[in-house]
Amino acid sequence: MTNKQRTRTDYAASILGARGSMSVGGGAYSEYGGATTCVLVRFAGHTALLDAGTGLLNLPAELLTAPSLPLLLTHAHADHLLGLPLCPYVMRRGARLEIYGRTRNGLDAETQARRLLSPPLWPVGPEKLPAEIAFHDLPDEFYLGADSRAASRETGGIHVKTMEGEHPNGVSLLRLERDGRSVVLMTDCTLTERVWGDALEFARGCSLLLCDGQYGDDEWRVCSGFGHNSWKTAARFARECGARNARIIHHDPFHTDAILNEAAHETEEICPGCAFAKEGEVIAL
Ligand SMILES: [Zn+2]
Ligand SMILES: [Zn+2]
Repeated sequence: MTNKQRTRTDYAASILGARGSMSVGGGAYSEYGGATTCVLVRFAGHTALLDAGTGLLNLPAELLTAPSLPLLLTHAHADHLLGLPLCPYVMRRGARLEIYGRTRNGLDAETQARRLLSPPLWPVGPEKLPAEIAFHDLPDEFYLGADSRAASRETGGIHVKTMEGEHPNGVSLLRLERDGRSVVLMTDCTLTERVWGDALEFARGCSLLLCDGQYGDDEWRVCSGFGHNSWKTAARFARECGARNARIIHHDPFHTDAILNEAAHETEEICPGCAFAKEGEVIAL
């Protein structure tokens, strides 16, 4: 198949979970969804999963038979990890999940995951799951091959760049590029003065920016130390970095559809088109 024959959705980001901090459910959340952070990125035949919140359970059925999948973790706070042990993909023998995450608080990615996925917090560890799960340190910059393992520049694949953000216990900002398209995931990072300039350059001109904007102005006065942003800050950042398309993510568990629809009027004024991400949304790159 040539590039011209490909449909636009061959290059897309699927929002499998857009909620932050804690998953929620019920009719008041039917529009934006209740599952926590997980994004599926596709560059034609190359696929990557970003974060393993409860949205990971929304993995499309056609990927359940993939021989391998790569999962990049921004950090291992529970809202970004809790989907891992129940994801249907890891319930299949013969599947292989390659997980990339950074050492935090002196613990490598595997040890962090095992803190949550071991008795008595969870009945079994990753080694008891039917799928093979391998953990790797997340390099600053690397190529992700079609077999979900790190590849050389010559072999190619998805070009992954990272930047450390501002968040309790740390967070990696992720930029994935291939074939002139790019996705930037900037969740759980407070865009302080210290990181604003570097973050702008990191996200500059991307096809799609996904930026944390958990709070309204009133909440921000109380929650400014929690490692997130106000939605107005996220919209301002989206406008300034020149992203071709942008969504605000990591919605607060108490923000119903009605609250987010109201907030969308405020962000639309700052950055037209910068909407709040909806679970199930597929955004062409
Ligand atoms: Zn979070
Ligand atoms: Zn966090």
